[in-house]
Amino acid sequence: MGMQYHCSRCHQRFAGPAEGAPEHCPRCKAEAGLEPDKRAPLAMLLFAAFLATAVLASVVGGAVAVASS
Ligand SMILES: [Zn+2]
Repeated sequence: MGMQYHCSRCHQRFAGPAEGAPEHCPRCKAEAGLEPDKRAPLAMLLFAAFLATAVLASVVGGAVAVASS
C-alpha cells in the first residue's frame, strides 16, 4: 500500500501510488501542495487505545484484587 497524502489545497486525503509521489490530487487535480500525511493511521490509533484500555483495566483490576484481599 502506498503512502497517504494530504492535499493542502482542498484538504483531501488520499493514498499515493505504491512508489514515488502522486502526480496530482484526485479531487482538485492540484499538482502542488501534496504533502505526505504523517499522521498515524486510524487502525494504529484504535490499537493503541485498545492497548491503553487493556493496561488500565489490568491495573485497576489488580488494585481491586489487592484492596479486597
Ligand atoms: Zn486537492
